[in-house]
Amino acid sequence: MVNINQGFLQLQNNYLFSEVAKRVENYQKEYPNKKIIRLGIGDVTLPIPEVITNAIKKAADEMSQKESFRGYGPEQGYAFLKEKIVVYDYQARGIDFNTDEVFVSDGAKCDVGNILDLFDRENCVAITDPVYPVYLDTNIMAGRSEKQGNIVFMKAVKENKFQPLPEELEKHVDIIYLCSPNNPTGVAMKKKVLEKWIEYAQKENSIILYDAAYEAYIEGEGVVHSIYEIDGAKKVAIEFKSFSKTAGFTGLRCAYTIIPKELEVNGVKLNELWKRRMATKFNGVSYVVQRGAEAVYTKEGQKVIRQNIEYYKENARVIKKGLEEAGYEVYGGENAPYIWLKTPDHIKSWDFLDMLLEKANVVGTPGVGFGKNGEGYFRLTAFGDREETKMAIKRIKELGV
Ligand code: PLP
Repeated sequence: MVNINQGFLQLQNNYLFSEVAKRVENYQKEYPNKKIIRLGIGDVTLPIPEVITNAIKKAADEMSQKESFRGYGPEQGYAFLKEKIVVYDYQARGIDFNTDEVFVSDGAKCDVGNILDLFDRENCVAITDPVYPVYLDTNIMAGRSEKQGNIVFMKAVKENKFQPLPEELEKHVDIIYLCSPNNPTGVAMKKKVLEKWIEYAQKENSIILYDAAYEAYIEGEGVVHSIYEIDGAKKVAIEFKSFSKTAGFTGLRCAYTIIPKELEVNGVKLNELWKRRMATKFNGVSYVVQRGAEAVYTKEGQKVIRQNIEYYKENARVIKKGLEEAGYEVYGGENAPYIWLKTPDHIKSWDFLDMLLEKANVVGTPGVGFGKNGEGYFRLTAFGDREETKMAIKRIKELGV
């Protein structure tokens, strides 16, 4: 008899965005003339800059010519892209990597999930609550559970400024997920807090899985762009980065993961294991998309992606300032495209969604969908259109708190 992976049966239904969509649809059916503004889903809305699409078109043309056609590429990514990553994303910040420490992939989501292939099921993982749901679900799929004691949650609440500390852990953990700037709280971890985690990982022989998908939104002091800006991180941390929110690649798909050669577990280099895993289960990101990603690093590419990021960041400022003026308790939004607001009068996240939908015709995401500590919070995203964002905030302000 076939036995299925029981982990899949333990997963909670992933109903967050579908439930939001259902409620919006029902409302819209009843009030078809109401103009609903959506600040819920974390996807970019600005088109991909032409410098990138031109590079993709050129690469597509190369594919149509016998002399320049390319078949399978290197599973870990083309050197032309990895060289740019090493120079612009790391050397420019004083961090040295070889190109064989960079693994190009089709998304940070896949990488943060697939990385679990490298670790024994008995390893205990620590996940912040609330957080990007993929960390929890992929661990459940891999056979871990809170009940068995190999998944533990770390509260990310206003009391710890949404940045859990190692001393808050109740037991030893082997793998720690840190997401900074954070989805959904929009808070970036302070360098001092990350230093504590590095120290913890060194002392406890643990590994940090550092998701920096929103790194491009960082602007504040005291916050690092890469975990490797911290001494000792190369021995204990894997870093995930993505072109999705940096350059509008959510539909194109390109990301990368850094596994330093210095990172060893019982004398085994994780870099070697991941290389083996990639070669076995992955055949590389398409050539044309990697050429598009390469164009991100041209002078023009950098200029236009910065303009787009600035557009979203200005939206974040509009939301944050407007909500504060309206009397809301607001977090995030400075180093991230997410604004995390405390619902007034302890209204539950889902009730707040209904209230905002009905009274202001604005849609966001209930915080509890990101973990139980998200209850009583609500996420708004800065990825919308500027005028619509302003209108949404005007409507929320008119409602009062
Ligand atoms: N990591 C975080 C924290 C995210 O919020 C997201 C997307 O929303 C991803 C990773 C996914 O990135 P990618 O589009 O590269 O798969």
